Amino acid sequence: MITIDEIKKCYDVFPVTIGFRKYFSMNPEHRDFLETIGENSGDCYIVGDFIAGNWRRKRCAALDSRNLCKLHKQGRKPLQCRIVPFCAVYPEDKQDVIFVEQKQGKFKKCKGYKTAEEKKYTVWENGRFTDSTHRDAFCEYQKGLQRQKRVTQGILEELKGQPSYQEFLRGEGIIETYIPLSLLFDVLEAGGFSFDEYHLFINAQGRLCSKELASQKTENPVLADYLKALNQIAESYTKFVKDQRQAVK
Ligand code: SF4
Repeated sequence: MITIDEIKKCYDVFPVTIGFRKYFSMNPEHRDFLETIGENSGDCYIVGDFIAGNWRRKRCAALDSRNLCKLHKQGRKPLQCRIVPFCAVYPEDKQDVIFVEQKQGKFKKCKGYKTAEEKKYTVWENGRFTDSTHRDAFCEYQKGLQRQKRVTQGILEELKGQPSYQEFLRGEGIIETYIPLSLLFDVLEAGGFSFDEYHLFINAQGRLCSKELASQKTENPVLADYLKALNQIAESYTKFVKDQRQAVK
């Protein structure tokens, strides 16, 4: 998971899609926060995050041959990776609940968890992050979620007409899509790209989608559709730039 402010940092490493999940509020303050980042839907909130990479894979594309994160050294490791297994969608003072849940679930085999006796390197205590690196990344992620609400809301509106959206509402889990072409430039502008840089994003994403699809044994309809959309926009963009140049001549 990355925020809109991180797309520019890692668009050349991961294909970027968007996923929506349902979250239930833990208390009134949390509900107020969820209001600022998502859409109310009955007893829950639907919140969107940008997804860096193909989450169906077990291995992240940024891992090198020694199992070290290539982005870490380059200072562009995603915020979520800096705070995991904490989660910025939940309140800072409830992170112990998330932490325990993660330990029993996805992070069952993680050796990074310490026992209650191991006090050194504690990063969260009594409802607060005691480590500034974690606190800063946590706050930055929350700000990003708030800043991206306008575009995630627009993407969610486009999803609502699809049958898969009704399935998502009835069930659990995630609904994933690619950034629709009608909102792509809006997302890029909000993500800090200048118009002259749009083609860099389109080319890199097209290359990464093709590579991902070619190397996969199972189908990935979201990336396949994303690639088609990118090819379509690349054509229109090239034509637009060509027309502009001719107009200048
Ligand atoms: S920390 Fe791990 S999951 Fe995150 S970008 Fe690096 S290799 Fe990928």
